[in-house]
Amino acid sequence: MIQKLLPTSTAGSLPKPAWLAEPEKLWSSWRFQGDELLEAKRDALRLSLQDQQQAGIDIVSDGEQTRQHFVTTFIEHLSGVDFERRQTVKIRDRYDASVPTVVGPVSREKSVFVEDAKFSLQQTNHPLKWALPGPMTMVDTLYDNHYKSRRELAWEFAKILNEEAKELEAVGVDIIQFDEPAFNVFFDEVNDWGIATLQRAIEGLKCETAVHICYGYGITANTEWKKTLGSQWLQYEQFFPQLQKSKIDIVSLECQNSHVPMELIELIRGKKVMVGAIDVATNTIETPDEVANTLRKALQFVDPDKLYPSTNCGMAPLPRLVARDKLNALSTGAEIVRGELTL
Ligand code: ZN
Repeated sequence: MIQKLLPTSTAGSLPKPAWLAEPEKLWSSWRFQGDELLEAKRDALRLSLQDQQQAGIDIVSDGEQTRQHFVTTFIEHLSGVDFERRQTVKIRDRYDASVPTVVGPVSREKSVFVEDAKFSLQQTNHPLKWALPGPMTMVDTLYDNHYKSRRELAWEFAKILNEEAKELEAVGVDIIQFDEPAFNVFFDEVNDWGIATLQRAIEGLKCETAVHICYGYGITANTEWKKTLGSQWLQYEQFFPQLQKSKIDIVSLECQNSHVPMELIELIRGKKVMVGAIDVATNTIETPDEVANTLRKALQFVDPDKLYPSTNCGMAPLPRLVARDKLNALSTGAEIVRGELTL
């Protein structure tokens, strides 16, 4: 499907315009309501696609312009979850968040993102990647007062995600990505049921599938946590062997300014790898050479036709112009390495 060598993409979210939602913030509230909000989200989506294309991003996404948050917006559309009954729980085992409560059996009454995906496809000729939350990360962003079993709830979410993914595939989405930052935290659960539920979520799909596993957004709670992880981050090592055996096509990783030893990528040899070459925890713009260096290092462990230059994580909390410059750096850096590969 994607012919070009080193096709660039982003992990997911991009900043929203200040007229749409309060900028540089997660879960920021919308500035409009009703039909005006619907129209404003679509306008932002168009701008986001245009920004990505002008920056030379090959595989585009919606930049999450129509979502408040990558997990909760999906959950909001499900029955069985009460958004009025909120609990403060520790998520990703490190920071408190006010989350909704599961009060009964969860189900999806109608598609969540299909109309947005159709609209996006009308706006672009580029391949479109669509992100959904992963089952484990959904479970970890809720208070469960019904199933009382993370595994069981994840399995129910996986079935729901599979229904949504099949509809996204049917309208023409090229790549469906599941965001699983929780994989970097709960290793026993990842190996016990995390990868299995992910496989359930992609069951029967013919389009490409990806899993994004990062160290979280560039927010203070995450940068503080990273300081405790030591000089070598070996989290990926814990579950890569099992992930390598899964049917997921693409694995999206955090590599720029991270302490992840690149050689860990060897453990998922055979997979396509979205190599994060843009740090989302700093406003400093990478130089194209810095991006190129990260990609060159990754090339020791990924075949060139399987390397997808990307960002470490979503850029929603960054200033808009910073994100745009970072996208430019990503595509210019990828172009340098592309030139070296085709000499
Ligand atoms: Zn991420």
